[in-house]
Amino acid sequence: MSFYSLKMRASKNSQHVSGAEKILHEQELPAQMNALLSRALHHAKGQADFINMKIETVRPDDLEYINALPVSSVMVNTPEEGQEVILQYLSKLGIKNGTEIMKRFADTYTMRGAILLDVNDLSRLEPDFGRGIRATYMDAEHSLDRLPDSCKNHFQEAIVLASKVVAAPHIIAEICISDDPDYVTGYIAAKNIGYVRISKLKNMGCPNGRRIFLYQGPKQDIAKCINYLEKQRVLVCHVPYFPNEKSITPINYIQQMEKYLQNKKELHLYRQTREITSAQSAHVIYQGRRMLMLASNNYLGLSNNTVVKESAEQAIKKYGCGSGGSRLTTGTLSLHNQLECTLAKFKNTEAALLFNTGYMANLGIISAICQKGWIIYSDELNHASIIDGCRLSSARIVIYNHNNMDSLEAKLREFAPCQGLIVTDAVFSMDGDIANLPQIMSLSHKYNVLTMVDEAHATGVIGSNGKGICEYYKMEKKPDILMGTLSKSLGSEGGYVCGCKILIDYLRNTARSYIFSTSQSPAALAAALTALDILVNHPGIVKKLQKNVQCFCETLRINGISANSDSAIVPIKIGDEAKTIRIEKELFQQNIFLTAIRYPTVAKGAAILRAAVMATHTEAEIQLAAKKISAAINL
Ligand code: PMP
Repeated sequence: MSFYSLKMRASKNSQHVSGAEKILHEQELPAQMNALLSRALHHAKGQADFINMKIETVRPDDLEYINALPVSSVMVNTPEEGQEVILQYLSKLGIKNGTEIMKRFADTYTMRGAILLDVNDLSRLEPDFGRGIRATYMDAEHSLDRLPDSCKNHFQEAIVLASKVVAAPHIIAEICISDDPDYVTGYIAAKNIGYVRISKLKNMGCPNGRRIFLYQGPKQDIAKCINYLEKQRVLVCHVPYFPNEKSITPINYIQQMEKYLQNKKELHLYRQTREITSAQSAHVIYQGRRMLMLASNNYLGLSNNTVVKESAEQAIKKYGCGSGGSRLTTGTLSLHNQLECTLAKFKNTEAALLFNTGYMANLGIISAICQKGWIIYSDELNHASIIDGCRLSSARIVIYNHNNMDSLEAKLREFAPCQGLIVTDAVFSMDGDIANLPQIMSLSHKYNVLTMVDEAHATGVIGSNGKGICEYYKMEKKPDILMGTLSKSLGSEGGYVCGCKILIDYLRNTARSYIFSTSQSPAALAAALTALDILVNHPGIVKKLQKNVQCFCETLRINGISANSDSAIVPIKIGDEAKTIRIEKELFQQNIFLTAIRYPTVAKGAAILRAAVMATHTEAEIQLAAKKISAAINL
C-alpha cells in the first residue's frame, strides 16, 4: 500500500492562516486534499490568498510506527503555578537547571521552529538559530475509513508531535507553550511522564510561546537527532481523541466507581457476597456456624442429593469436565441430546433446547424471536433476564401492570394488529405469585400474539407433580414458548426452552447465546437428568415442599406476619431498606440465612425478606424460623 505525505500551508497578506500535515494512504489523498483546501479557503482568520500543498510519496519501509504518549492534565490558576509544575517535572527527570531552561523561552518567540537545548551546558544545538528545528513528517495512524477533517484538532496534533519528538535519539523532554494568543495552555512531554497538559502557562492574548527540545547525549549524535525530528516519517498509534479542550482533563474512572459505591452504601443498597463453606442444603455453614437456609432456590434439595451428585461424578469420569465447544461446533454430547428429550417429554412439548443458564436462555430466545417492528408485552415485575432479553431485541417493549389482565388487554388493543409476544414469569421471582396464564393465553389467542412463560420458579414447585404452571392450572393447551432453568428445583445449572419442533429449530439457528457460547459441562447435564428423573418418579418431594410452604405461612400468620404463597417463595414485606437490613442482621445472628431484597431488584422503599422454603426442611425447623422472623420484625 502506498503512503503519501501531504503538507498544506496557507497565508493571507503573508500572515499565517492555517497549516496541516498528514501521512495518508493513497486512496485518502483526494478527499483529504479537498478538506484541507476548504479549511484554507473558509478559515476564521480569513480566506487564504496563498495556499501551498506539497505531496511526497512515503515508502512503507521508511515509515516508523510509535505509540502515543499517555495523556494527563494538571489544572493551575496562574502562569506562575504552571511554570512551577514544569520545574517539578524537570526535577523528576533529573534536570536541576529548570529555571535557566525556562528563561530560554524568550529566545524562541521570534523563531518558526524550536530550540534544541543541551540540558547539561544549556548550549543551543540548532544549525540555524533563526529557523530552529521543525519537527515534521508525522501523523496519527488512522484506519482507512477516517473522514476527511476540515477542522483542526489541536490536541491530537500536539500529542502526535510530542510523541515523535520524545522518540528522537537523546531527546529527554519537550516543553511547549502555545503561541496562539487565544490559548494559554502548554505541556511538558517525556517518555516516562507522558504528555502532561498544563492548563495555564501564560496570559490570554499573549502571542509568546514556542517549543524547547531538551537534548542529553553525545555531541556527535546531534545530527542524528535533528535528522529524526525533521526527516523521519512517523505514524503515531493509539492517539487518544479529545473533542475539545475541556475534555482533555482526564476522567478518573475508578474514582467515579468509588463514589457510586459510597452512595449505594449510604442508601443501604450496597451489595456483598456471603461465602458458604458447605453444600447448598437445608442447612449451610456460614462463618463457621450452621445456619438454616431460608433463601435458596434449591427448593427440592436436589443440589446436594446423593444420587444426583453420583451421576455428576460418573459424567465427569466418562466425559471429562468441560464440553469443549459450543453446541454447533464440537460441544454436543449425548448428555445434551438426552436431557433435551427428557425435558420435552416432561413438559409435554415436541422439542427442547438447552442454554448455559436461564439468564442466557431469556436473552437468546427473546432477542432471536422479536424483530424490529414487533411489540413485546412484558409484565412490570418480570425477571431481569427477561428485561435484558427484551432490550437486546429490536422490538418495542410495552410494559403492562403486574399480572393485571385489563392492563394487558388495553395495551394489546392499543397496538393491534401487530406481530407480538406476551412474556411473563410463571412464578414471580420476588413475590412468589403466579401469572394468570389462562387469561394470558386467551388474550394471546384473541390478539394473535405469541406467549412465553418463564418457569424458573414453577418447575418442581407448582402443579400436583411439579410440572409447572400448565399443570397448576390444569391446562391442556401450552404457551408457545416454555422457558425454564435447571438451576433451581433441579439443583444443577443451565437454562432450557420447550416448544414445537420448528420453534426449537429456529432458536438453534438464531439464538446467539446458544450459538456463541461453550455448552454446559457434563456434570451439570448429568445432575439435571438425574434430578428430573427423581422429580418424575418421586412426586412426593413436591408435595412435601408445598406442605412446608403452607406450614411456614401459617406459622408466620399466627405470629402476626401476613404471609401467603402458592409457590416456594414467601415474600415478607418490610419496605424501608435500613429496617430490612437490620432484621436480616438479627436473623443471621440467630443462625437463619434469609436475605434482604432491595432496589433495584424491587422498587425503592419496597424492600422485602424473600423467604424460600425447601422440601428438605423439617416442619419443626420452619415453624421455629417463622417465630424468629416474627420476633425480629417486631423487635
Ligand atoms: N428467570 C427467572 C424468573 C429467575 O428468577 C432466574 C434466576 N434468578 C432466571 C430466569 C435466570 O436463571 P439462571 O439462574 O439459571 O441464570
